[in-house]
Parts: sequence; C-alpha cells; structure tokens
Amino acid sequence: MLKYGITYVHEHITIDLSGVKDNDDCNLNCLEATIKEFKDLYNLGVRNIIDVTNIGMHRNPSYVEQVAHASGINIIHSTGWYQERFLPDYIATTPIHQLADQLIMDIQMGMDGTNIKASVIGEIGTSKDTITENEEKVFNASIIAAKETGVVLSTHCTLGMLGLEQIQLLKKHHFDCRKAVIGHVDLSGNIQYILQLLEEGVYISFDTIGKENYLPDCQRIDMIKQVINAGFIDKLMLSMDITRKSHLRHYGGIGYSYLLHTFVPLMREAGIMEDHIDHMLIHNPMTFFTRSNIQ
Ligand SMILES: [Zn+2]
Repeated sequence: MLKYGITYVHEHITIDLSGVKDNDDCNLNCLEATIKEFKDLYNLGVRNIIDVTNIGMHRNPSYVEQVAHASGINIIHSTGWYQERFLPDYIATTPIHQLADQLIMDIQMGMDGTNIKASVIGEIGTSKDTITENEEKVFNASIIAAKETGVVLSTHCTLGMLGLEQIQLLKKHHFDCRKAVIGHVDLSGNIQYILQLLEEGVYISFDTIGKENYLPDCQRIDMIKQVINAGFIDKLMLSMDITRKSHLRHYGGIGYSYLLHTFVPLMREAGIMEDHIDHMLIHNPMTFFTRSNIQ
C-alpha cells in the first residue's frame, strides 16, 4: 500500500473547517499551490501522504486524486468523523452498527459516490478535557469497522491530551493497540505522558511540526531524543498537519516541505542519528500502515 520512501502520516490536502471556525483561512482549497508544493515534496523523497481528512471536514477524494496524479505522490485516503464540534447531527441519532457500516462501505466500496476507497480510519478525535458521548460513539463504530476490515486507526488528541483515555477505549473493545496511532501528542509537551502512551504499545505521531505558536520545535526535538533514549524510536512518526491556506508557501506560510528542509537539519544538529530519522520518516510508517490489510 505504501511506496518505499518518506511518508507524512497526518496531513490534509483539502479541508474546510471554515464554517465552524468562522474563518475562511480554514478552507484549504488551493489546488494549484498544493500541486506545486507536492511536486517539491516528491523531489525531496516523499512518496506517501496519509490524508486524514474525513466526513464532516469536507473531504474531496477526486481533488486529492488529482494532486496525487499530478505530483506522483501516493496519497492514502481516510474515513471517519472528527471531534464533537465538527460531527454531523446524525451521529447522535444513528445506531453504532449503522455508523460502522458506513465506514466499512467507504473502505470496501468507495467514498462519496466515487470508487476511491479509504484505507485508514482517522482522524477520529476527542475534545480537550473530555470524551463526549458522540465522540465515544465514533470511536466504538470505528473500532468495529477497523476490526471488520483490518485497517489501522489514526486519532486526534486536542492539544495532545486524553491519549490514555483513547487507549482505554481501544482496550475496552479488545482492539490491538499496535494498529493505532495516537495523534498530535507532541502538543502535550509532556514527555512522561508520551512515554506512558508508548508503554501501551500504540504508535504516536509528532504531527504538528512547525506550529511554533503551539510549541517550539526545539521542544519537539528534545522529546524525540527522550523517546529514542527510552527505546521507543520504532513507534514514532512525523508530520505537519497543514490545514490552512496561510500554512502554504503561496500565502506566506512555511509549506509542507518545512519538515524536510528545516526540521530534519535541526534534528541532525541536535545529534539525532540518520538511522533514527529514517525510522521516523520511512520505516515506521511502512511497518504501521502495512498493518492495514487493504491494498
Ligand atoms: Zn487533528
């Protein structure tokens, strides 16, 4: 399912959260600018992007395929629902098994009337201090669908929090934690918590690289070194979670390539070994996403 090369594990190609956020910057729909950046990524060795845009985030599988074809990058599609503020009203009223069936359809038949299939369930999320009833319902439906189809789960932790509670939900329903990646945990800034997550057997992603208004990258690098020292380098993956027009270079942002042309050199300067960098960018995503049985 993945080509050999670098993989960004948590991105959005087109996403529209502008309604809820009341901000047009959150409607990322810049096809030409995105294709231009993705061609650059290809030249930098990127071969796969996991697009975790799902139902309610205005995913657009045909648009994404256009970017994939134009750039040569293999883009993996997702299904699922995000977090409380962005959940469609029908989540509250639809039985869990029916929600699971919708996910299974997306994985086995195709999404939104296309024959483009999802191969990941994500990003399924929890709120900052709580898991709402609807969010738990989405997790439960996702677990059913993931077990049925064999795909992996990718989660959203608001500000990096509640990863342990997410893991409790997985364990309650006997989901194999090795098939889940807990997302945005770098934002917690809390290495003890991050190591606790890793003890549970999950994968984690530091996927907000470059978002220094949330957390300086030097802290991410410190935490990466501690993850390596604790023996968990096989479980850590990287990405940027680009979601806004203003993140793109065309609009003055740092762009998708920041991870490779700025963050990787910073890791090297900090003494992180090449082999460890390759694990985070190449080998770990290959191992993790090939756990999805879907081709
Ligand atoms: Zn997210």
